[in-house]
Amino acid sequence: MEKKGILIVVSGFSGAGKGTLMKELLSRYPEDYALSISATTRSPREGEEDGREYFFKTKDEFEKMIAKGELIEYAKYVENYYGTPRSYVETKLAEGKDVILEIEIQGALKVKEAFPDTLLLFITPPTAGELRSRLVGRGTETMDVIESRMRRACEEAEGMERYDYLIVNDDLGECVKRMHGIIQGEHDRSFRNREFMENIKKDLERLKGEE
Ligand code: ADP
Ligand code: 5GP
Repeated sequence: MEKKGILIVVSGFSGAGKGTLMKELLSRYPEDYALSISATTRSPREGEEDGREYFFKTKDEFEKMIAKGELIEYAKYVENYYGTPRSYVETKLAEGKDVILEIEIQGALKVKEAFPDTLLLFITPPTAGELRSRLVGRGTETMDVIESRMRRACEEAEGMERYDYLIVNDDLGECVKRMHGIIQGEHDRSFRNREFMENIKKDLERLKGEE
């Protein structure tokens, strides 16, 4: 049976460990997943490269992408635009890969509306205190930005119930295993296997006719 790719949205508070988790998931299971690279108007952090973490765009360039319909969704997050380029997602799904979008909640809900079969996963650290420690420990933002991300986390927490699964990122290795298990299980959901069911029904009818 041909495996169809699932569109997966991963959201979670900034600092929850989404980026770290994605890296680990892709390095353990490189054949199964494709990670979409978003476009953004925020500046690159130290060590980030254009085309690897993000496609870094000016506001003008980003607005042109919106106008041309090149983004599946986009949202404004703490003063910057972020959006998902359409072509990569469509190509990889057609190749049978599970495509992961690591995006915030407004974008997640827009994707779910446009593609109702999307699997929504929400990543959280075990406690709020751990979230702050991870944001501080990452050392990539000023205290002001950390505070605005903590405030944003309060707002985002209101939307957690709308996700299909809540994944607590405590021990990284365990968390990667759990996430992979959830996604693999998702492939067996009956609504994702309509074609198989139709075919076996036809085969059963055919064999019955041969008796
Ligand atoms: P996000 O992409 O959600 O903003 P990151 O992946 O950048 O988060 O992780 C934030 C910080 O937390 C990083 O310094 C990372 O090394 C650390 N981190 C991620 N996962 C864990 C974990 N399971 N346990 C401890 N620290 C973690
Ligand atoms: P960061 O600046 O920490 O890389 O990302 C900030 C937030 O933007 C994160 O919650 C991240 O998931 C989200 N994000 C990244 N890319 C996209 C995207 O293409 N669309 C949307 N809606 N959010 C995104």
